[in-house]
Amino acid sequence: MKIHSLPLILLAFCTCGLFAQTDTSFYSVVAKDKITGAQKIWKTGSNEYHYTYHYNDRGRGDSLATTLHTTDDRLILSETISGVDYFKNSYSESFTVVGDSAIWTVNGTRKSKPFKNASYLSSEAPTFWECLIPWTLQQPAQRATLLPDGFVHLDAPLFRSFSLQGKTQKLLLYPVYFEPEPAPTYIWMTDDMHFFASINAWTSCISKGYETWTDTLLSIQETAGQKYYVAELNANSKPLAHLLLLNHCNVFQSSTATVLKDMSVEVVDGKIASLFPTSSTIEHPKPDTTIDCKGKFLMPGLWDMHAHYGKEEGVKYLAGGVTHVRDMGNDNIILTYKKQIEENKLLGPDLTYLSGFIDKEDPFQGPTGAIIKSLSEGIAAIDDYHRRGYQQIKLYSSITPAWVKPLAAHAHESGMKVCGHIPAFMTAEQAINDGYNEITHMNFIFLNFMSNTIDTRTPARFRMVGDHGGELDLKSKKVRDFVQLMKAKHIALDPTLNVWQGMFDEFKGDTSHALKPIISWLPLSMLSGLSNQSPFGSEEQKKAYQAAFRNMLKMTKLLYDNGILLVSGTDGGEAIALHHELELYVQAGIPANQVLKIGTYNAALDCNLQNTWGSIAVGREADFILVDGNPIQNISDIRRVELVVKNKRMYQPRELLTRQGWKYY
Ligand SMILES: [Zn+2]
Repeated sequence: MKIHSLPLILLAFCTCGLFAQTDTSFYSVVAKDKITGAQKIWKTGSNEYHYTYHYNDRGRGDSLATTLHTTDDRLILSETISGVDYFKNSYSESFTVVGDSAIWTVNGTRKSKPFKNASYLSSEAPTFWECLIPWTLQQPAQRATLLPDGFVHLDAPLFRSFSLQGKTQKLLLYPVYFEPEPAPTYIWMTDDMHFFASINAWTSCISKGYETWTDTLLSIQETAGQKYYVAELNANSKPLAHLLLLNHCNVFQSSTATVLKDMSVEVVDGKIASLFPTSSTIEHPKPDTTIDCKGKFLMPGLWDMHAHYGKEEGVKYLAGGVTHVRDMGNDNIILTYKKQIEENKLLGPDLTYLSGFIDKEDPFQGPTGAIIKSLSEGIAAIDDYHRRGYQQIKLYSSITPAWVKPLAAHAHESGMKVCGHIPAFMTAEQAINDGYNEITHMNFIFLNFMSNTIDTRTPARFRMVGDHGGELDLKSKKVRDFVQLMKAKHIALDPTLNVWQGMFDEFKGDTSHALKPIISWLPLSMLSGLSNQSPFGSEEQKKAYQAAFRNMLKMTKLLYDNGILLVSGTDGGEAIALHHELELYVQAGIPANQVLKIGTYNAALDCNLQNTWGSIAVGREADFILVDGNPIQNISDIRRVELVVKNKRMYQPRELLTRQGWKYY
């Protein structure tokens, strides 16, 4: 259910020959080969631009109108934006330069800064590349200051010439760097310096009529980025010594949730060769590298069991001690990333377990994966995912309820598990009886008790739970019976509590709970986005929504007490959200040592990979993190990761984050 921000949807006014120019230029917003939105751009006067922009994402999506004034060299001097944001709440923003001050107002909150030759970036509307790129090219070293914060610089472009429909189009691919983030963003411009496209695996924006080009342009970007990513990996990690010895470790035994004190761990060629008390007098071979871990906590690497992985997330996942990710729905490009990470050509957690995403074609269809029109197409999609190496199937909200049983049966025949949203007009109980192995998101547990007539394709699947989730009696027979059904059928739950806290427990003026503990680490450019205000609850609804969230915590504990397998996933948010997800389990009443087991061993167990990963034991892969603290005494210590070892390489989170412009503990 990830709320995908659309970071690079581009807008442009174009006067180039390509568009058989009239006064207006048109672009398409494309998601999964489907046009989901559009933008229209026109110019009045020499330096006044206008654009409208909208897209539909399962009933959500921005709709905005913008007017800008610029200098002759396209520096923005004023901007007004109005419309609705992703969750259809009214949105307004303005920017203006008065004398030597820049003043901007977002939904009534006014801020200002001295102004000196800096380009303004809206916090909601897409970046106006049509101005930003030509203006930055004119700055010294092609580097420019941004407002509210940060810098942008451009690298030399790649040239590519394409032919389509008998026309030849020359394009420039610009690597754009938003400092301090080191990884490039790619923007396609025409050779006469007008915006052409911004391409991403999930959502792209491209000149109208060229929608079918997105896959080709994406693969060119991927190749262009390869050199950067290999260099990044080498600069940010080093190969493990042939024989690595860690002494004086407190070693977390994840399968039993216990700790062995003052132990030595011997790693030979990337595998755990032996585990013995550091005080032991038995002779061991001489190590190439020895690390003193006195007072520190060695545990298996964390797993994020609900990611929609993008390769730009790799650094922060590793810095937060996450060495494995289960992907829960993505473009097939995930297979390329998986292989590159396995071969140590791309920095990131192992993409250990992949869920093939399937939804039915529908106005509210999911934003990625296989979109089917019939049951037989669904069967074919399962076969296709199986052939490509995906291990499970994730069904989504628009699937016809009657298809669940045959789809699940077919997936099971291929040895694949079935998880997902509970399709609209169906309950979790029905989905379990029709073959689900795991339920994705806690809201579907609550919706189970609210009827099977709710159209959960729409944001009703959030609102119904926010409005009434607090009223559910967890001691009632219907709840007890349902928990017994989950138990009897070995149904796992991926609750994504951090998502529900963001929606139900954070209101106007609140700082995101997940970010609060690390505010002092963040670069300036992130400090404006700290408030993660619920898109739903008005001040009056606040009480009901917070009660719903508290009941979700209680339900989590109830399921844990009944032996239901919980898997910790974030649905976006990388390690930052995962650390908070684990904190929420402790808040729910689950002992911290058991929470660490959930984040490591149980995850591997759910993927049936517990004999390879998820524990520190002889014969297993060396896949662990050294924590400077004791997360059993204080779960929040999980944020103090000092060292990460995975896939025969070693990473230092402090270094990883410093290179991203972050501070650390
Ligand atoms: Zn998701």
